[in-house]
Amino acid sequence: NNAYGRVLSQASGKLGSSTLPDTEIRTVVDKMLDATKTMEARSKMLEERLTASSREIGELRERLDAVRRENLTDQLTGIANRRAFDVEIEQSILRAQSSGKVLCLVMCDVDHFKKFNDNWGHQTGDQVLRLVANCLSENVKGADTAARYGGEEFAVILPETQLPDALRLADRIRTAIESKKLIKKSTGDILGVITVSAGIARWAPGESIADFIARADTCLYAAKRTGRNKVVTETDPAYLQAEKNVAA
Ligand code: GH3
Ligand code: MG
Ligand code: MG
Repeated sequence: NNAYGRVLSQASGKLGSSTLPDTEIRTVVDKMLDATKTMEARSKMLEERLTASSREIGELRERLDAVRRENLTDQLTGIANRRAFDVEIEQSILRAQSSGKVLCLVMCDVDHFKKFNDNWGHQTGDQVLRLVANCLSENVKGADTAARYGGEEFAVILPETQLPDALRLADRIRTAIESKKLIKKSTGDILGVITVSAGIARWAPGESIADFIARADTCLYAAKRTGRNKVVTETDPAYLQAEKNVAA
């Protein structure tokens, strides 16, 4: 760039003197042309480098997004993983806090899953976990989050959802899972049915994440204690019965 400027200013100096012969003018103009060509080549190269760089940045950004997505996805089932759940429950609580809107949480656990694994093996057990996850994600929409909370436990975060609606949704999921007839593909063995139990809590203003989850868990526990394959909330007689049994 500097060199180009020097050539131009030299040329302008020479052309400024009116006594210059034609051949001299020609030399000056040739020099200017040369310098301009060099300059063009260089700026073309810079432009190409810039294009390459921005393409690279675009690719890196895409890869970063993919890694982020992978970080928040459960490898076995493809739904949100525990990390995603932790992020989402915190944000949901913050939003409920500022909007004053209702927030419900469903905790869900496969019934007698240990026995199922013992009978049919871990791989078949994994297939069942995929099926449960599918039933969850088929039944949630919009701002809802279905996540694998751990092992054979799942959670559904339901922002702006009243308890009776959350109950209906959880029961729809429960029925959907119960109605699947499980057959082992490789052998044709009939595996019977799989059921889940669920507990639901509605977030109480000011309540911590841990307490909120614990309340949903207590309801889930009540569902287990009072027969499994059911959904329990704190207003449910099954919950009160389980509480009484714990107290007794
Ligand atoms: P309950 O009805 O009381 O929930 O009985 P359960 O047998 O389901 O409960 P428990 O918590 O005693 O056992 C959970 C079992 O889930 C233990 C393990 O065999 C199985 N499990 C946990 N994570 C996985 C997994 O990723 N894959 C498979 N195949 N099984 C798992
Ligand atoms: Mg469990
Ligand atoms: Mg279980």
